Amino acid sequence: MLPVITLIGRPNVGKSTLFNRLTRTRDALVADFPGLTRDRQYGVGRIGPSPYIIVDTGGIGTLAEGVEALMERQVQRAVEEADHLLFLVDAKDGCTPEDMEIVERLRRLGKPLSLVVNKSDTTDPSLAVADFHQLGLGDPWAVSATQGLGVRGLIDHVFAQLPESETDENASDSDEDQGVRVAVVGRPNAGKSTLINRLLGEERLVTFDSPGTTRDSIFVPFERLGRRYTLIDTAGLRRRARVQDAIEKFSVIKTLQAIEEANVVILVIDAHEGIGEQDATLAGHVIESGRAVVVAINKWDGLDPDQRERVRDQFSRKLAFLDFAKLHRVSALHGSGVGLLLDEVDQAYANATRDLATPELTRLLESAVQEHQPPLVKGRRIKLRYAHQGGRNPPIVVIHGNQTDEVPESYRRYLINRFRKALDLLGTPLRLEFKSGS
Ligand code: GDP
Ligand code: GDP
Repeated sequence: MLPVITLIGRPNVGKSTLFNRLTRTRDALVADFPGLTRDRQYGVGRIGPSPYIIVDTGGIGTLAEGVEALMERQVQRAVEEADHLLFLVDAKDGCTPEDMEIVERLRRLGKPLSLVVNKSDTTDPSLAVADFHQLGLGDPWAVSATQGLGVRGLIDHVFAQLPESETDENASDSDEDQGVRVAVVGRPNAGKSTLINRLLGEERLVTFDSPGTTRDSIFVPFERLGRRYTLIDTAGLRRRARVQDAIEKFSVIKTLQAIEEANVVILVIDAHEGIGEQDATLAGHVIESGRAVVVAINKWDGLDPDQRERVRDQFSRKLAFLDFAKLHRVSALHGSGVGLLLDEVDQAYANATRDLATPELTRLLESAVQEHQPPLVKGRRIKLRYAHQGGRNPPIVVIHGNQTDEVPESYRRYLINRFRKALDLLGTPLRLEFKSGS
């Protein structure tokens, strides 16, 4: 599972700036869709050796509030679930009484901890760092979140401190044993446990081991029609959940980890509740991960025609960026539509891992360019020459040409749509990468 790194510090020391820098994704896909609220507290970091979950605890307030706020459940939980804490302080302010107060609390937690002096661009770094030695946390790391200075080194340092099991890249090596890895995610009460029980009830369980800790998801291998799958369960297997349990057992960290570990994500949405902010946020995380997706609109039973229409309408408005995914109406409770879900999973996985031939991709590129030329930049036309495949799950198409840094977002989107339609890539996002020269 991905290691969890948690940011802690007073307001205004630069936590969210650092968070943004660490989670910045390659394509601006999600940012482009208005109406999609992004969860600014949790993200997947992609700067450094391997991906990791990064949590911004946000509001540890002033002195009095700080102590209380640290005890607050959410922060407490984020800290408990962390593998490594980054305690941020501000080089401009120097060491403050609040910083000392927070250190006192953090020390008692006994978690691996690094002291990070942010905004070191504003003063002489050695001076900035010297002042913080009094916190007794060893040598501080001087960084600048706005300029990116020292950030990569900091993450490398954190990884060097993690226990080896946290940095194992074991999951991706054993694809053949585990079959297709499927994560079932969704907000509390969407029906994940019910769906998982239904899926497993109808199929053959291969083996089943309970996990050691509550933080980890459960990996359940099973077989169906001679094909192997591993179900990544974030909800708690075969547990008849009481309603008041659902929020308690829901964990954003588990969900993010499950998405990262999966080949295909089943995003469960509660049709009775409609599509809310939490669904959009989760969908945003799925999109950023590049995983294949099947959307299960659950609790389709007992909806009147008006409600059904409302859900369809909400889906096309609020989750428009998931237009490549197959929408599937199911009732986990009664079982209707559930069998077909795994067929959709197979289909999405096949599309996500398909071989795309260079001549075909180049031909598609040429016809797309012919029909709609890329724009002129400073009087010169952007040239796109040929394309080849650069990865799978998600499929990546690498396009070579000139001035490719200048390709506008709208043109990128046009190309993605062209490729996706022509290649019939239902159920998987597609990424484009541009290379200039040659
Ligand atoms: P948070 O409350 O801890 O999340 O702090 P923010 O990320 O919102 O940052 C507070 C202010 O500090 C913003 O105006 C940032 O632009 C600024 N800031 C953050 N990091 C740096 C940095 O590395 N250098 C400088 N000079 N300013 C920074
Ligand atoms: P989780 O928190 O996502 O794991 O959700 P659960 O599987 O625990 O389900 C939450 C509640 O929704 C339970 O009371 C279920 O019985 C109910 N539920 C789940 N699936 C369906 C469905 O397809 N139709 C209806 N009407 N209720 C469902």
